[in-house]
Amino acid sequence: MGSSPAVEIRGLRKEYGDTVAVDGLDLVVPRGATYALLGPNGSGKTTTIRTLLRIQEPDAGEVRVLGEKPGPGVRDRIGYLPEERGLYPRMKVREVLTFLAELKGMAPRDSRPRIDGWLDRVDLSERADDRVQTLSKGMQQKLQFVAAVVHEPELVILDEPFSGLDPINQQALREIVAEIRRSERTILFSTHIIEHAERLCDHVCILSHGRAVVEGEVGRVKREHGGRHVGLTLDPWTPEAVAAVRAAPEVARVHQDGHAIELSLADGADPRALLARLVQGGVGLIRFEVVEPSLHQVFIERVGSRPIEEGALV
Ligand code: ATP
Repeated sequence: MGSSPAVEIRGLRKEYGDTVAVDGLDLVVPRGATYALLGPNGSGKTTTIRTLLRIQEPDAGEVRVLGEKPGPGVRDRIGYLPEERGLYPRMKVREVLTFLAELKGMAPRDSRPRIDGWLDRVDLSERADDRVQTLSKGMQQKLQFVAAVVHEPELVILDEPFSGLDPINQQALREIVAEIRRSERTILFSTHIIEHAERLCDHVCILSHGRAVVEGEVGRVKREHGGRHVGLTLDPWTPEAVAAVRAAPEVARVHQDGHAIELSLADGADPRALLARLVQGGVGLIRFEVVEPSLHQVFIERVGSRPIEEGALV
């Protein structure tokens, strides 16, 4: 049992009327992985996650969670942050956490020190005796995150955990996720923001229209998409030099981040031909290297559109 994957999904399908939300999805989350379900709005992330909690029954396919069928048998071993937040608004912060921990089998005398530790960690200690409804949206989200992890579940499932948090709290949450990762527990989180997946996950499933277009270990995913990406830095940086890069026939797409440029090569294009063209064209280069693609580039290549706020595509 211990050697079974944390999550295994085979041929999952879920329809709502005429909408196919999940369309034959296969994925495996190994034990100890930090796994990102990455996809644009409506790609099927929440539907997939809900089948793991048995909030929704699939129309077809097999789902295993911690080696078992989803259901009451595994529920206490999972921590879940749902996409739609909502805790008992009239209960007090510490009270609601104590209550939820008790539902997961923890006696109040055991949960109390952990709850206080977590409240301190997410900067909510001073609000411990306030009612939930008096907290801001972001604070309520942090509280609900604590509710998902306080019983130290083997598998933590977070549906869009970063949405609604300011940059400082996003960073704090990333650090907490990294800590949970070091404790060798399994984390599955959904996001439409590539940067969060890029910084955190070691495994990824890129979803598009309910299908996995990419699935597996991040290093392998990048290697499989490698050889077709070039990183370069211009010096001097001029609009003419950028225009020359963009106009080169070897270049399919350009992603610019400040003065650094990452580009995807056109099918069959040779990076040496591009280098020669730029040098002959008088473009000043202080860096030109064939690089592993970022998840961003893999995403753009496989999903084909710009899904996110971060990162400027030019
Ligand atoms: P988001 O990033 O916007 O949360 P998502 O990737 O989580 O999106 P889902 O919520 O799984 O996507 O939705 C997938 C598709 O299924 C969408 O087309 C959505 O409209 C549809 N859908 C989801 N839930 C329902 C429902 N209860 N009834 C009808 N259609 C639904």
